[in-house]
Amino acid sequence: MPDTQVQSINPANGEVIESFTPLNASGIESALDKAADRFLSWRNVPLAERAELLNSAADILEAKASEYARDITLEMGKPLAQAEGEVKKCATACRHYAEHGASYLQDETIRTDAHRAFVRHLPMGPVLAVMPWNFPFWQVFRFAAPGLMAGNVGLLKHASNVWRSALNIEDVFRRAGFPDGCFQTLLIGSSDVEGVIRDNRVKAVTLTGSGPAGRSVAAIAGDSIKPSLLELGGSDAFIVMPSADLDKAVKTAVTARTQNSGQSCIAAKRFFVHADIHAEFSKRFVAAFDALEVGDPMKDSTDVGPLATLQIRDELADQVDRSLKGGAESLTKDRTLPGKGAWIAPQILAEAHSGTPSTDEEMFGPVANLWKVSSLDDAIARANRSVFGLGSTLFSKEEAEIDKAVNELEAGATFINSMVASDPRLPFGGIKQSGYGRELAADGLHAFMNRKTVSVA
Ligand code: NAP
Repeated sequence: MPDTQVQSINPANGEVIESFTPLNASGIESALDKAADRFLSWRNVPLAERAELLNSAADILEAKASEYARDITLEMGKPLAQAEGEVKKCATACRHYAEHGASYLQDETIRTDAHRAFVRHLPMGPVLAVMPWNFPFWQVFRFAAPGLMAGNVGLLKHASNVWRSALNIEDVFRRAGFPDGCFQTLLIGSSDVEGVIRDNRVKAVTLTGSGPAGRSVAAIAGDSIKPSLLELGGSDAFIVMPSADLDKAVKTAVTARTQNSGQSCIAAKRFFVHADIHAEFSKRFVAAFDALEVGDPMKDSTDVGPLATLQIRDELADQVDRSLKGGAESLTKDRTLPGKGAWIAPQILAEAHSGTPSTDEEMFGPVANLWKVSSLDDAIARANRSVFGLGSTLFSKEEAEIDKAVNELEAGATFINSMVASDPRLPFGGIKQSGYGRELAADGLHAFMNRKTVSVA
């Protein structure tokens, strides 16, 4: 990457917040050296000590949540209360691995003809994390907390629009007392990622982001014969059947589509509602969307802020346009938006035809797609037509329907009567073009470890 400045721009008003100087080649080199050196001592630090440091990181996240949240909102525009919630959620991930890491890392005894046989989990070394801007803290902590507990060291390449948050995360680990080099933020652009993945000191790579970025990173990792984990996009289905609690289903549908101003990989994006309740659901869903307050993300009452950048707003507006031209009907009211900045109106598109962005692409913003379906089979068949397979939701009280949805929906997760959400206790990840591998829970800790087989004669 050339030595030009990288700017953080407030998407609510287009103002430049801060400029950063990217790392040059010698800066990258010394960071990789530091990571490799630190790993040699960090892997031998007792688990109890690692846990204590993670608990200190949690204390700092909680104490400084409002300060970090303000920077998140300034850089990428999510409503402030949601930014604060995100920072506090990172503390729960740190505490989870502090409490459960040792048990996740225990040897697994296996009975064989040998005197003793077991699997031991050993760390691999420096792991590169390429991360997106939409949950600038959470995505990083869900990699870093298990990774550090495992004995790996972290290198973060964060999205170029959230570099203040990237530096704040490094600050959390420094203040918590992690030894220098356990977690480093590399202020680099995506063109520098290939060199870092190929470097011998780097042992694995994880990416959360879009399909094109995932494809590129996985190809380079494959060519270098290094493990990779991909958390990519989604177009989650949200199915509502006649037995559902309609109040709860509507309320959950609105939150699932509009939280984080609609920019969440696990947001419900395609809604399939049974014909028997479709009219009532649709009426309430539209009323709730029309009542959303769109505006200054620093204000408590704001439900939906700006999108993260003008480019993201323009791409979504183009997708909406193409779906409308392809036969969709807009059900929501026209709005006057705040003006300068990356604003878009929350909207519901009904009965979009196949072959449009509503059916075929990920729509990353507060745009819901709604269809009437004749049966659960119909809903599942349409849900599974997507190239993505991240999360899915069913609202129903019928056990047989629940069982069918769990078995037949092509997704890494199915949530019944609630929205898909990540939780440090539950494995998280997708199938199909939503990626591969699992983060969080024990899976997240084992993702980048050598499961060494030991046999003692
Ligand atoms: P993005 O453009 O793919 O960027 C993600 C990260 O990848 C950024 O750090 C970006 O750096 C980097 N990057 C982009 N192209 C690259 C390349 N060719 N080689 C190496 N690195 C590259 O995605 P985004 O727009 O920030 O994030 C939105 C996407 O992330 C959505 O599709 C969303 O669904 C997905 N997501 C998935 C999950 C999940 O858990 N499955 C969670 C959150 C988001 P620069 O910023 O410097 O370009």
